[in-house]
Amino acid sequence: MASASGVTVVGGGVIGLSAAWFAARDGFDVTVVDRASPHGGSWVAGGMLAPITEAWPGDEDVLALGVESLELWPGFAASLGVPLSPVGTLAVAVDTADAGVLDQLCAYLAKMGRKADRVTRRELRELEPGLGPSVRSGLSVPGDLSVDNRALLDALRRACAENGVRFAEQSTVDSWVTVIAAGAWSRDLHPALKDVIRPVKGEILRLRARPGALPPPKHTIRAHVSGRPVYLVPREDGLVLGATQYEAGFDADVTVGGVRDLVRDAEVVWPAVAEYALAECAAGFRAGSPDNAPVIRWLEPGVLAATGHHRNGLLLAPVTARRVLDLLREAREGGHG
Ligand SMILES: Cc1cc2nc3c(=O)[nH]c(=O)nc-3n(C[C@H](O)[C@H](O)[C@H](O)COP(=O)(O)OP(=O)(O)OC[C@H]3O[C@@H](n4cnc5c(N)ncnc54)[C@H](O)[C@@H]3O)c2cc1C
Repeated sequence: MASASGVTVVGGGVIGLSAAWFAARDGFDVTVVDRASPHGGSWVAGGMLAPITEAWPGDEDVLALGVESLELWPGFAASLGVPLSPVGTLAVAVDTADAGVLDQLCAYLAKMGRKADRVTRRELRELEPGLGPSVRSGLSVPGDLSVDNRALLDALRRACAENGVRFAEQSTVDSWVTVIAAGAWSRDLHPALKDVIRPVKGEILRLRARPGALPPPKHTIRAHVSGRPVYLVPREDGLVLGATQYEAGFDADVTVGGVRDLVRDAEVVWPAVAEYALAECAAGFRAGSPDNAPVIRWLEPGVLAATGHHRNGLLLAPVTARRVLDLLREAREGGHG
């Protein structure tokens, strides 16, 4: 019989690695099994840690969990030695309908007691002189953070290894507990997840600032352009430009239409992107769930789920790792799994 400490985590994205790191630090004997898909959400993501600008009526549980996780982020990042960008988000609008979406968000945030300040056209340009001429109004959300998701994954792998986590491509161990943290693919790993988790495709681009081009914005910029959402997340050498969102199963192609929409809308918001080099086009899968909230619970004795993080898996990594650890500790103390 497996000892009450052997934990296999299936999935080496941000959720699996964070849970594995927390569990190993607490004395569990952890193996991460990962098949290294280039379409994992954690690898392709934009890196926004942004519960406030992601907020929307009906998703109150996600907002509360996101705010809880955002508070954990500075300590989480410091332990990993990963820098965070503290500059915040500007949410901007182009046409009247886009401005209406911002008004709705603003009213909702006020109702929920969250901080977001309306900014005028002139104030927007003082904050970000590179904004396009048709950007008309905005919202400043100073509390949002962002992180380089690939640097984060590297740091998590290092932290796991330093705490004795083993890595494998296939599970060969008889573990006490298996944690299913395989993102969108989790649906194929347990019958209870089959009709709960679904892949939500996202296309996303990485742009490199070329010599002579306007440097990237300081803030994360999120916009609605003729109804389509687009965001620009600054990086040291350029920016991440995302992202499309639609349901197409596990189709991993980057479509011409997806790239066209992203580039066209980004150019309205930040015209200098036309001068940048198109360094990477990628498609990845979010793990959608019926209520947009993650599934972090026992599926049966010995099988724990940590999946369904949809658009917020990076943001929710610390709070998820903490919840998984709490469940593992309870099981260890109660003598069950
Ligand atoms: C375009 C895009 C942009 C995004 N931007 C943001 C953002 O800015 N902020 C944010 O918070 N979130 C963002 N997200 C969402 C976020 O990326 C996900 O919620 C998060 O990555 C989920 O992490 P995960 O570890 O659960 O899954 P994943 O990162 O998908 O990792 C799952 C891992 O499991 C592995 N795997 C799958 N099946 C098996 C198997 N049978 N055996 C072994 N291994 C397996 C895969 O290879 C993969 O490595 C974005 C997502 C996309 C697609």
